Amino acid sequence: MEKWQREMQKSIRKPDELIKKFHQIDLSSINNVISIFPMRITPYYFSLIQDFNDPIFKQAVPDEKELQDIVGIPDPLSEEEQSPVPCLVHRYPDRALLMVTNICAVFCRFCTRKRLIGRRAVRREDVKRAIKYVSENQQIREIIISGGDPLTLSDEILEEILLELKKINHLEVIRIGTRMPCTLPSRITLNLCKILKKYHPLYINTHFNHPNELTEEAKKALEMLADSGIPLGNQSVLLKGVNDDVKVLQELFKKLLKFRVKPYYLYQADLVEGTHHFRTPLGKGIEIMQRIQGNLSGMCIPKFVLDSPGGGGKIPLFPRYLQKVLPDGILLKNYQGKNVFYPEINEKGKMASENVQLAFDFEEIRGDKKN
Ligand SMILES: *Cc1c(COP(=O)(O)O)cnc(C)c1O
Repeated sequence: MEKWQREMQKSIRKPDELIKKFHQIDLSSINNVISIFPMRITPYYFSLIQDFNDPIFKQAVPDEKELQDIVGIPDPLSEEEQSPVPCLVHRYPDRALLMVTNICAVFCRFCTRKRLIGRRAVRREDVKRAIKYVSENQQIREIIISGGDPLTLSDEILEEILLELKKINHLEVIRIGTRMPCTLPSRITLNLCKILKKYHPLYINTHFNHPNELTEEAKKALEMLADSGIPLGNQSVLLKGVNDDVKVLQELFKKLLKFRVKPYYLYQADLVEGTHHFRTPLGKGIEIMQRIQGNLSGMCIPKFVLDSPGGGGKIPLFPRYLQKVLPDGILLKNYQGKNVFYPEINEKGKMASENVQLAFDFEEIRGDKKN
């Protein structure tokens, strides 16, 4: 057994281990929560907690509010409906999401797949069948290996899956979604890197939500992956009380870039059952993005997106830059809040009325016509 596997085995799964460090925790309420939404925290991630209820604590330690959520639903993105075979979600024409395990090193309390993680097991034969589906659907050009966390699988099983995928000619890109660099950085071993390297073009999107997670250990893990030629992206979730703050997110995004990771998405928290206490109003994320744009290198600014309820896909949300459509151009607001006029001119040096018409329709859709 490898070192990281021993660490995973030592994960905290019972409340008495939490109480040793945090006496204020209520044993019976934690027990109630974990009988429905199980707990799992690696000793490493637990060691990052500095205080009761700090941003790491909130992400990992169960809260009785999880059982008081009356708004959330188990599968808000309709993944089950868009699953032609078990373990695979085929929402977009050219890419599909393959769930290879239901286990993660840490069970994040805000997880989008709370209905599955640590609850419904993934069967090896289902993964095989899902890969067969990919091989039979020519339009799939990219596979996103997800879960659970794919890097909780052993090197051998992971490589078996990668090998099978590599055989599919129409598959051009492999993407892995993993939180291991954040929750169990020792998982990123030389041998793992040696395997991953063989399957380029291979991308990894990891998941950091708070600058306290960007430790020396995480840095080393990310460096090893980047040195293996793997482009790294990051998907964060906007979480109330964890990172819904301009300063915190600025620090997170800047530090990620320094650690060779490009911030990719910032998610509005999904309408998942048991996560209501993490959800911010939509305006919060937009306001944060407005304050970050222009003040931070474009290299470290992610897209703020919401994943449509019902499975309509991800939709980017932007601050309101377009102010007004005038007969000869468009009035915008820049990052400092100053007005900017951009003239619309066609090839003949005249106003391109078609473009302006398009913009007018856009305004109408937004219900801003009255201006
Ligand atoms: C997020 C997601 C993808 C990938 O979307 P990108 O915008 O390409 O990152 C693909 N399939 C499903 C089901 C997803 O949820």
